[in-house]
Amino acid sequence: MRFARLRLNGFKSFVDPTDLVIHDGLTGVVGPNGCGKSNLLEALRWVMGENRPTAMRGAGMEDVIFAGSGGRGARAFAEVALSIDNSERLAPSGFNEADQLEVVRRITRDAGSAYRVNGREVRARDVQMLFADASTGAHSPALVRQGQISELINAKPRARRRILEEAAGISGLYQRRHEAELRLSATEQNLTRVEDVVENLA
Ligand code: ATP
Repeated sequence: MRFARLRLNGFKSFVDPTDLVIHDGLTGVVGPNGCGKSNLLEALRWVMGENRPTAMRGAGMEDVIFAGSGGRGARAFAEVALSIDNSERLAPSGFNEADQLEVVRRITRDAGSAYRVNGREVRARDVQMLFADASTGAHSPALVRQGQISELINAKPRARRRILEEAAGISGLYQRRHEAELRLSATEQNLTRVEDVVENLA
């Protein structure tokens, strides 16, 4: 899976539709302070399912919507689309039916986020798992924001372990284990209830 294109519309400082083609090899983004370089990295994280506003340098998730500046009014929504080259068919099952995947996240004021993959509406969790299984995603150690290296040097071993787990591609398993544990506990509660009912009938 290779990122091929990033499209932004109304996301942070990218008020106008912006199309960024990502070619093979190294891509550099250069520009003066405040031109939006970090916003691009945040757009990548966001479309992959980031759900912490602080990771977007905001207080609430709607802060990613263009807030108005330079005489232009605030926008009602923000959208980021990430096109992925899947010609080698390495996408996780459930998403591996096409050579090209387009993951779209859109946030509308007062209506929250919605996700689509190749036009099909999916849950945030589906998108997060898609990228986690592909050893990338919003928390991927491959995305390094300003100040993160010094944070890592000072990090506790548990935080460093998370990076190794991401690199090993097993972080998606934790979410699945958590969900399985929740289902197990719900089933155990149901069983207890059934036993109570049976006892009352006896
Ligand atoms: P530096 O080189 O200083 O790190 P940068 O190129 O990484 O800068 P960013 O931090 O990506 O720049 O962009 C900051 C700009 O984005 C600021 O001008 C800020 O006003 C603008 N911005 C952030 N959020 C929004 C928003 N919701 N609406 C409008 N503009 C926004």
